[in-house]
Amino acid sequence: MNSIKAQARELDQADPLAHKKSEFYLPEGVIYLDGNSLGALPHSARVRAKDVVDAQWGDGLITSWNQHGWIDLPHRVGSKLGKLLGAADGQLVCCDSISVNLFKLLSAALKMRPERHVIATTAENFPTDIYIAEGLIEQLGGKHELRLLEEQNLCEALTDDIAVLMITQVNFRTGLKQDMEAVTRLAHEKGILVIWDLAHSAGAFPVRLDASEADFAVGCTYKYLNGGPGAPAFVYVASRHQAEYIQPLSGWMGHAEPFAFSPHYRPAQGIRQNLSGTPGVIGMSILDAALEVFEDVPLTALREKSLALMRFFENCLEAHDIAGYLTPCYPEEQHRGSQLAFRHPDAYAICQAWIADGVIGDFRAPDILRIGFAPLYLSYADIEQAVSRLAAILNEQRYQDPVFQQKLHVT
Ligand SMILES: *Cc1c(COP(=O)(O)O)cnc(C)c1O
Repeated sequence: MNSIKAQARELDQADPLAHKKSEFYLPEGVIYLDGNSLGALPHSARVRAKDVVDAQWGDGLITSWNQHGWIDLPHRVGSKLGKLLGAADGQLVCCDSISVNLFKLLSAALKMRPERHVIATTAENFPTDIYIAEGLIEQLGGKHELRLLEEQNLCEALTDDIAVLMITQVNFRTGLKQDMEAVTRLAHEKGILVIWDLAHSAGAFPVRLDASEADFAVGCTYKYLNGGPGAPAFVYVASRHQAEYIQPLSGWMGHAEPFAFSPHYRPAQGIRQNLSGTPGVIGMSILDAALEVFEDVPLTALREKSLALMRFFENCLEAHDIAGYLTPCYPEEQHRGSQLAFRHPDAYAICQAWIADGVIGDFRAPDILRIGFAPLYLSYADIEQAVSRLAAILNEQRYQDPVFQQKLHVT
């Protein structure tokens, strides 16, 4: 037991990213294993939040659209995100939510494949992705089919009647990570356009959008990118598609000349067409500042630490002799995002008991205890502490207490 603590100390001492933890605010005594749902607060974001409200809005009033470059924020942030996602400039813009951006991309992609009528996705996809496709199909008069493919047989299921494959790179329950390059290549061989959802990829490991020849992508910024609750999402349209691309939410910010106030819509050239209405300046400014924490972080080092943290978590389960209580349901290391998932019939109550003990993980229905590993602000000592507290909960069956069984509104 002591030797696992000693191992944690040694790993922390040798960790090239150890210094990043001090760039975040984390409440005293809390170990945060839910950065895959809502990232922690970077100090830079807190400073900017105050500045954007007090100085930029309060003092600058409307002049800040120019003085503080509010009008360019969607592109400035898009360009910062491009560096994390392997995308050259001019292909990413920050706006709206994943859900809304998927509606734009799916609509545009279907227009680019008029002779095909199938939207394919995986049955295991995050619900909003599927719901948006259902809503769009309804809107288009029901002429299209939504085909739910099985994640395990994805490659065989790619047939040449599919217009667009909408696929999430990392499964939100199990953490299974798709090979972006291989799946895109196979889809392209069948003439299928691919939309990647990078919700659990962005800020978790290196992504190579351009090198993979991805067509389109979306992602959110409040998970591993630490942009804050409800922070704006991003949308990627590969340069080669931009001339043909037309999305239906034709708002004034995506007009070729928004301030000409013309009575007719004329789309902007390039990625800006994806903007619909006025950007949420406060949230986007906070995100802009939050992304500063990534500036000196090699993404390969981020990936290495994420994998090492997960390996150490498994070692801690063994060292505390509780591995037998939980059923792992996550893939091999090389096919894994930055999370682990375990099944247990009392997963919800265990999660609540863990939270009561200062360790925040999360629960996904029906029976999954999900543990996110955000490498920028987790230490190996945190992992050892978290598992040690979990061991007490399991060994003493503390999760049986009725207070831990009551379901809260947000799980
Ligand atoms: C978190 C997540 C979303 C959330 O979509 P919003 O529109 O930002 O609420 C969508 N898709 C996936 C795969 C996610 O993990």
